[in-house]
Amino acid sequence: MSHVPSLESLHALGARQQPAYHDPAARDAAVSRLRTMPPLVFAGECDDLKAKLADVARGKAFLLQGGDCAETFAGVTADNVRNKLRVLLQMAVVLTYAASVPVVKVGRLAGQYAKPRSSDLETRDGVTLPAYRGDAVNGYEFTAESRQHDPSRLVEVYHSSAATLNLARAFVTGGYADLRQVHTWNTDFVKESSVGQRYERMAGEIERALTFMQAIGADPDEFHRVDFHTCHEGLVLDYEHAMTRIDSRTELPYDVSAHFVWIGERTRQLDGPHVELFRHIRNPIGVKLGPTTTPDDAIALAGRLNPDNEAGRLTFVTRFGSERIRDGLPDLVEKVTAAGVDVAWVCDPMHGNTFEASSGYKTRRFDDVIAEVQGFFDVHRSIGTWPGGIHVELTGDDVTECIGGGEELLEVDLAHRYESVCDPRLNRVQSLELAFLVAEMLRTV
Ligand code: PEP
Ligand code: MN
Repeated sequence: MSHVPSLESLHALGARQQPAYHDPAARDAAVSRLRTMPPLVFAGECDDLKAKLADVARGKAFLLQGGDCAETFAGVTADNVRNKLRVLLQMAVVLTYAASVPVVKVGRLAGQYAKPRSSDLETRDGVTLPAYRGDAVNGYEFTAESRQHDPSRLVEVYHSSAATLNLARAFVTGGYADLRQVHTWNTDFVKESSVGQRYERMAGEIERALTFMQAIGADPDEFHRVDFHTCHEGLVLDYEHAMTRIDSRTELPYDVSAHFVWIGERTRQLDGPHVELFRHIRNPIGVKLGPTTTPDDAIALAGRLNPDNEAGRLTFVTRFGSERIRDGLPDLVEKVTAAGVDVAWVCDPMHGNTFEASSGYKTRRFDDVIAEVQGFFDVHRSIGTWPGGIHVELTGDDVTECIGGGEELLEVDLAHRYESVCDPRLNRVQSLELAFLVAEMLRTV
């Protein structure tokens, strides 16, 4: 099991969604450089997250996984990273307090730079160029030069991830995530919104509880820091393979580019290279499952990726769409459960609900997102399985990318502040609203 297949043997399996580099020597140089770089995360931290995800699989904790669809190199700024962490902390505290369930916090950040695309090409005004595949592969700017696949970007992924992770670690251990900051996370535009005021009342209750605890002399470490982990889609094999190392403690391979990596809906072929690489790494891993997934597909994936049926090792992230979840999910969950597969079930209510607005912007309706999460909870409740978490695309800023929500964003508002280079994200107010709604669903499980 500890023998990792060579990068060449993975490519020989016919990898989908990979960059096409025209200069093999430059690609080899980037891969060699990455192999010399220090790990971004430690294997022991991956094991800690795996233990937490085992609690999720057992129905004792809830996973909050969120961040950009696609991070960008230009987005590695202090404000941007802080804002994303802040909204995740706010959501986590809402879920923990309102539902009394431990929340496992995993940022979709510090490595989320590669995107699978449904088309290799993009045409604008009669000009056709390679599609944008994430900053890991090419540039967003619509010019031939920028859209060329450039292997040196893989090294930049490493450095951008390191800078983001360094700041994230400082924020979560250096006082910013201290529960006594619960009010200060609720700043600026959010505070004025009605969900912000609801949050403010809850923060007041938490603060009173903290003061009481302190008065009786209790001040546990948990009040001052949070556990925070990172994840991204493990898409580009050159990068993920180069970042796979043998852990000196256990002599087992880990992908040290993030704590958790997942296989996307487009690359989850049972005999494909992504499953082959992921089969060998010891990180906790996920697989996205769309509406065409059969129970046999899922059972076979679990057999391949988690042959020992270890709890916490495997998370299935379902993304059916609000219209298909109630019909499609029950059979999948029932048969996977009946097969004795130990897995955490998580809902991605974003990717099955994307559509193009008449203005041309890719968007999602907040109501569809909520409807899918509600469907996910209802299906699991009726089967007796645990709705283990949510996987969402969000940002800490007040962007206008998804329509609806308490601020009632309309299609015409999309142009106002649409910043995503890929899929539309919930803004900070919508994210907080989602957290309150999910907390209510959790209370009645
Ligand atoms: C994504 O998470 O951004 C993504 C592309 O998802 P999926 O593989 O589910 O389509
Ligand atoms: Mn996406």
